[in-house]
Amino acid sequence: MLDLREVNKTYIINKNENCVAIKGVNLSLPSCGMVFILGKSGSGKSTLLNLIGGLDVCDGGDILLKNKSLASFTQKQLDAYRNTCVGFVFQECNMLEDFSVFDNILLALNLQNREADHKKVNDVLKQLKIEDIKDRKPYEISGGQKQRVAIARAIVKDPNIILCDEPTGNLDTSLSKDIFNTLKKLSKDKLVIVVSHDEEFAKKYADRIITLSDGKIVKDEEYTDKDNKIVYKEDKVYLPKDKKLTANEVKKINKYVLENRAEIIVKKDKKSNKTSKESKKTQQIDLKQYKISPKYVFRVATKNLFIKPIRLVFTILLMIVAMSLFGLGQIFNSYNIIDSSVKSFKNNNITNIVLKQGEYSSTLNSFNNNAEKTISLQSIMAVENAYSGDIDYLYSAKFQFGKITSDDVLSTILSAVGKELVSPYVTKTNGLLVTNKENLTDFLDKESIVGEYPSKTSNAVAITDYLADSLIRLRVVEDNNLDLKFDYDDIIGYEICDVLGFKIKVLGVIETGYKEKYKDLINQFETDPNAFTVHEKYDAFVNDVKNYYSVLYTANENLIRDYIVETINYSAIENYKIKKQNGEYVANTLIDTNLSSIGYMFGVEGFYSLFGLDTKTDAEKEVAVNKLFSKNAFSLIENYNNAIVLSIEEYNNVFDEDLKTINEFDFDSIGESSLRIKIGEFEPLDGSGNPYNEIDAIVVGVYDFSADNLGGLNINSEVVSTVLRGIANNNFIKQINITHMSKVGMYVNLPSDYNLAYKLIKAVNNNYMYHQTEISKNIYLVNNIFAIFSLVIKWVALILAIFSVILLVNFVGHSIMQRQKEIGLFRAIGASGFDILKIFLVEVA
Ligand code: ADP
Ligand code: MG
Repeated sequence: MLDLREVNKTYIINKNENCVAIKGVNLSLPSCGMVFILGKSGSGKSTLLNLIGGLDVCDGGDILLKNKSLASFTQKQLDAYRNTCVGFVFQECNMLEDFSVFDNILLALNLQNREADHKKVNDVLKQLKIEDIKDRKPYEISGGQKQRVAIARAIVKDPNIILCDEPTGNLDTSLSKDIFNTLKKLSKDKLVIVVSHDEEFAKKYADRIITLSDGKIVKDEEYTDKDNKIVYKEDKVYLPKDKKLTANEVKKINKYVLENRAEIIVKKDKKSNKTSKESKKTQQIDLKQYKISPKYVFRVATKNLFIKPIRLVFTILLMIVAMSLFGLGQIFNSYNIIDSSVKSFKNNNITNIVLKQGEYSSTLNSFNNNAEKTISLQSIMAVENAYSGDIDYLYSAKFQFGKITSDDVLSTILSAVGKELVSPYVTKTNGLLVTNKENLTDFLDKESIVGEYPSKTSNAVAITDYLADSLIRLRVVEDNNLDLKFDYDDIIGYEICDVLGFKIKVLGVIETGYKEKYKDLINQFETDPNAFTVHEKYDAFVNDVKNYYSVLYTANENLIRDYIVETINYSAIENYKIKKQNGEYVANTLIDTNLSSIGYMFGVEGFYSLFGLDTKTDAEKEVAVNKLFSKNAFSLIENYNNAIVLSIEEYNNVFDEDLKTINEFDFDSIGESSLRIKIGEFEPLDGSGNPYNEIDAIVVGVYDFSADNLGGLNINSEVVSTVLRGIANNNFIKQINITHMSKVGMYVNLPSDYNLAYKLIKAVNNNYMYHQTEISKNIYLVNNIFAIFSLVIKWVALILAIFSVILLVNFVGHSIMQRQKEIGLFRAIGASGFDILKIFLVEVA
């Protein structure tokens, strides 16, 4: 019935350690009879039994069931084999604690979908004489009774093979006898394999004893005699039934009995019996595949649930919270800044919008919507594309009034924009807006003007009443005999002069009504200046000052060009890189971040004033220049239209050279292609793409502002070196300025059509521009809060999710640990792995 061929089983304990439990076992087992497996603890008995029972698979050799290899069985067939063919009886009875005896036995039948067969269960209970305890729970019965239940459970399915692993290990002798008698009876028509270490019982009950040692069969004794022979074994003499004994044999038997105090046992005639049964059984082996019924799955699973309800509820709650948070994060994330901007404008009747260029900060990985930068060409094109109306441009022509020292030049440059107001009045203008009177009236909701609005051709401006008041307060116009009680009429014709001497004539004073609009705020400043910046109207006021009140108005676009050409001897060059000789753009050496820092290119005059050399004598200037610049660099600047002097570091970086001093500069190559460079201007965000503008330049020298070199010159270049990117020809500087025209603001009318407005704001948003209206701050604030919320929530959700998964895994793990016994039992009675999984799924679901 069962044939074991060279069966091996090795347990892998860890990487370096294996345990060979069964070594090359060959064995042939009949289809009925009682076979004992003896051996010391650890000799491999249980392993062998488990292999036979299909609870484990061998890793060498094969086990043949009716000549069919177990190794060739699918998992399903193996489950079916355990389910229908094999009954297990363990030392530990492995019963479901909260199922009655009856139900425990019925469970085995359930796996054969014979649930309703209560008669069968009752028969078995009767057979094993345990009917009277059938309604008790396992903890209400004795060890002997338990073992009977276990046997009952094993045989209720009518298996061909009963496997018992130390079935009487926990029982006393008399109970053990009972059990063995029962098993012996069963062995008449079944193969009963009993693992035991009790030789006494083995000899008494066995038809065959197999002794294992270290995983090998060391003895295999038959106690039946198939050849109809007398068998002398230890203290027993087995006589075949109905055998006619010869005189010699009688003599021999007597002698053996006397010498060994042996007992004579008359063997039953099993042969005929066996063959008939065996042939019958042969037909009966049928590997039916059954599934455990859902009722049982549910009953077993739910039982464990409520043992740890708090933990379960907690885990489920945590999961729900995590999932909800993910959803919430998604909602926050899907907040649409464009849509909400457009709708907010509509709801607040805001039609005039100022657009500015923001800045992407790679360190913060976010968009800074406070920066006021020159609007990039790309942004201008994008907005012009998305918007069909008139765009008025604000140019960053800033007029600083009052007397300033040379030290202030740099700070003026650096704090060019965005300096918040600490008093209601300004000390400088915030640019020049090129617009017409009609648009202006629209922006300011006012149309009264003292004097007149300048025409398209006149090189003049209109200023606001606010700016006029600021000038008066600062006494800039004091010299003109204007006192604090003045008439705006008096200021008409006045020439505003910036610090560098450029003059613009004032043709009109626009009445903005700011005094009325911000009465409270201004009063607040008069009574308690400290409370000024926290006043509720402060933000709106700053916005109005920046974009309307402190702006000079002209209708003449050329005015800005004249202003630049006349005055500016430095230029901001933002987001630029120099092209290497090999054609690749490199980041500036002196700017840590790849882009996004403002660099300045200075003309010769600008350089003098920056270093405070403008007040020195020509001789002193020459000493400084000779020390700081390579040979003739300063004068050579004037020889080329697009000459530039680079810092020695920048030069080394761009040309892949390693000049140590300015004297090593290759003076002779000036003008040759080897010293020609391109300066590329990039999008604020995209230093890796193509520049949107390229300027040709010729390097005519290098400068070195290192501390060593500056020694004795009484010049502090520390701050200078962080902004100075090159020194160039004044015309070159102006050319760059004109190219840029320093557009820092776009004034548009929001289209009344939603889709058009959306298109415009989308272009703004996509180009890292932002809008400045009285409600913009709040819109961006909400957006930023939402962005942060969504980020935080997502992280929290992620952490919670991970946590709940850990809990869940722990929970299931715990259940599995606690219920390994049950799993073993289910497997032993033929539940498939899938059935067991079902139970756990129901449990955790
Ligand atoms: P017996 O039932 O004869 O006491 P076993 O068959 O249980 O012995 O064990 C045989 C050998 O295999 C022992 O050395 C035992 O430590 C080892 N063994 C049994 N089961 C495992 C297992 N799951 N993992 C590793 N080693 C095992
Ligand atoms: Mg064992």
